[in-house]
Amino acid sequence: MTTSHYIAGHWVEGQGSDCISVNDPALGQPFAELMAASVSQVDQAVAAARSALPAWKSTGASERAAFLRGFAEQLGQRREALVTLQMRNNGKPRHEAEIDLDDAIATFGYYAGLAEQLPSKNRTVPLAAPGFTARTRLEPVGVVGLIVPWNFPLVTSAWKLAPALAAGCTVVLKPSEVTPLIEQAYGQIADALGLPAGVLNIVNGKAETGAALSNHNGLDKLSFTGSNSVGSQVMRSASAQCRPVTLELGGKSAIVVFDDCDVDQAVEWIVAGISWNAGQMCSATSRLLVQDGIADALLPRLQAALENLRVGNPLTEEVDMGPLTSQAQWLKVASYFATAREEGLQCLAGGHALDREGWFVSPTLYTDVPKDSRLWTEEIFGPVLCARRFASEEQAIAEANDSRFGLVATVCSADLERAERVADALEVGHVWINSVQAVFVETSWGGTKGSGIGRELGPWGLSAYQSVKHVTRCLG
Ligand code: NAD
Repeated sequence: MTTSHYIAGHWVEGQGSDCISVNDPALGQPFAELMAASVSQVDQAVAAARSALPAWKSTGASERAAFLRGFAEQLGQRREALVTLQMRNNGKPRHEAEIDLDDAIATFGYYAGLAEQLPSKNRTVPLAAPGFTARTRLEPVGVVGLIVPWNFPLVTSAWKLAPALAAGCTVVLKPSEVTPLIEQAYGQIADALGLPAGVLNIVNGKAETGAALSNHNGLDKLSFTGSNSVGSQVMRSASAQCRPVTLELGGKSAIVVFDDCDVDQAVEWIVAGISWNAGQMCSATSRLLVQDGIADALLPRLQAALENLRVGNPLTEEVDMGPLTSQAQWLKVASYFATAREEGLQCLAGGHALDREGWFVSPTLYTDVPKDSRLWTEEIFGPVLCARRFASEEQAIAEANDSRFGLVATVCSADLERAERVADALEVGHVWINSVQAVFVETSWGGTKGSGIGRELGPWGLSAYQSVKHVTRCLG
């Protein structure tokens, strides 16, 4: 049993009614347990964040930046433990767990830099009218609730925590019940750095704990990353209180492959877009649009590449892809395999769970999937790729945009003018051209349409935790 809630600078045991099992998905077995935080512990965490706010928002930006650099440094010092825990609890291959850690480190470093620049942003506004002066103040939004999912626990939390702390907000973070141990590192680091008590609070739990936080009337803002179904509940709570909300939700993203591509290179990008984190990515490019002229050459090579992926336990084998992270996710993906069979989809690779212990599925490819198939329209969140062919650029753009989601897309073409033109036409928040999904902290993250509201990363990620104030003075 683990003590895992960090409230007002103290580690405390959960007093909620839910017992949370922390599982090793490669074995399908628990390796730790903890009790969820109770509703009154969520109250205590929000109260601690509220009382820490006046002092924290008055600290100099350079002092906050020093704490953020401390987070980056201390994450690096915990590298082996954090990489291993992600491998064990998420089922991530080692190289992916390392990239996640590096991403979190880079995020804290980047927002330390933006924090240092904050004083220069509070400047005089040039006015056309005589007789007045005006100045801008970028103030912290206040006490923020952060609710995150399990697929990139270190990263998603860093993308919220670092800008929130940089802006001068105080925070209550609720990690996912599937991966509740990983973000404890942030509490331990806060302790090690002497971050003032209450600036960062962490409460663990399931839906009840999340709802207690998102419904709490002591928050000034809530930032949520997760599913559309929970996101809409979070938005209802925010609307009931007329409170700002950031939502980073699901996706059903397209990868568009034109027939002037190098086939092997395109296969590499396609496979990465669906097998990274076993396809459990909001940004998985799970809809492949392949041009007629290249489809017959590409699909067999794609099939072979997916079948050749080494799938196994990242802690004991050299693998390209681990298990799905939870049994619930495994059952959900299996239900899509059943739907595909019912719909009579043509399966070129996989299409089944693996016959071994743990929550493994095979990398899967369905071809000529009808546009109204549930597998084409719904987020599956597993290594399940659906393909369709297209004839023209216009058709590719129309089919890629024909989705209720709009998170990301990838365009593969040797004709860079065309690739840029298609990128401009896609209704999404981020497009990669001839690339794997490289995410840089300086560029934004977030979606259009059903993929969410707001942006993380870059200066936009900081603005999400700032309120703009102007002070106008009459000179007369
Ligand atoms: P989820 O919505 O089930 O859970 C997300 C978080 O919300 C968890 O911490 C959970 O405990 C909490 N929660 C559950 N019920 C709640 C309630 N009623 N009120 C408040 N909080 C509640 O999502 P998940 O299964 O953890 O994650 C997968 C989803 O997250 C996918 O849809 C994926 O696309 C999305 N995601 C989006 C992004 C992005 O940046 N757009 C990034 C990662 C994941």
